[in-house]
Amino acid sequence: MSNFAEETVLSVHHWTDRLFSFRTSRQPSFRFRNGQFTMIGLKDGTKPLVRAYSMASPNYEDYLEFFSIKVQGGPLTSRLQNIKDGDPIVVGQKPTGTLVVDNLLPGKNLYLLSTGTGLAPFLSLIRDIETYEQFERIVLIHGCRFIADLAYCDYLTNVLPEDEIFGELVREKLIYYPTVTREPFRHVGRITHHLQSAEFFNEIGLPPLSAASDRIMLCGSPQMIQDLRGLIEGLGFVEGNHGEPGHFLIEKAFVQR
Ligand SMILES: Cc1cc2nc3c(=O)[nH]c(=O)nc-3n(C[C@H](O)[C@H](O)[C@H](O)COP(=O)(O)OP(=O)(O)OC[C@H]3O[C@@H](n4cnc5c(N)ncnc54)[C@H](O)[C@@H]3O)c2cc1C
Repeated sequence: MSNFAEETVLSVHHWTDRLFSFRTSRQPSFRFRNGQFTMIGLKDGTKPLVRAYSMASPNYEDYLEFFSIKVQGGPLTSRLQNIKDGDPIVVGQKPTGTLVVDNLLPGKNLYLLSTGTGLAPFLSLIRDIETYEQFERIVLIHGCRFIADLAYCDYLTNVLPEDEIFGELVREKLIYYPTVTREPFRHVGRITHHLQSAEFFNEIGLPPLSAASDRIMLCGSPQMIQDLRGLIEGLGFVEGNHGEPGHFLIEKAFVQR
């Protein structure tokens, strides 16, 4: 069996000149855990040109959704950003990734910390009943430079809390905390800044981070991961993975080439 299936683009949404989302058809045989990623891309002659992408849609939907950057001159995204409804997309049939709830030790509060397109895996995790069953509170922080980059902000603020299935759980357990660094907004500053500020914890109504009760998933830029890893390891958090569950998990939102 080929490692790739050909899917069809169902819809495309451009958030800004740097960010877009799109939905594709999904083979019923393609199974994944919420939080995982797979390789997707475009046919390029005989060999597909593919890159890693997190599934932004939860695993029970009959479509796949991806949240993408547009890199100027990027081999894949300079072409991918032009896709239209009906276009073909190749989707790798072997999803993988560390951001699955089983890789965390049991805990009380789950912090999902993201920058940029690092939000994508958390969009599937916050629509997974298992996530709500395992944690009392889920704190989703999305950090960007500008307000316009806060993709899905309206969905997370206004639509998901009213969702027929998840609305009640979301209103009771999910704290969505968008923050920007380059212009005035209701929350301003880097994630590292908020996690070290008493004001942040007062505002969300939770005690400061503690490895005894809190679990963390990180998905963002290499710099964000480096800064946050330093901060939480300094607080005694230990990284987990497939073999050994831990207090926190990391997935890079991209690698520097
Ligand atoms: C585990 C994993 C999951 C990923 N999930 C996603 C995802 O859900 N959505 C997504 O858009 N990308 C994701 N990426 C990045 C993705 O694989 C590609 O790098 C991206 O699509 C750009 O491809 P490209 O060929 O155009 O440029 P590339 O040659 O791949 O990248 C060129 C440069 O662009 C920058 N860059 C690449 N991706 C990003 C990004 N997402 N945000 C900011 N800067 C970036 C980097 O500086 C990189 O050096 C993921 C990467 C990894 C490792």
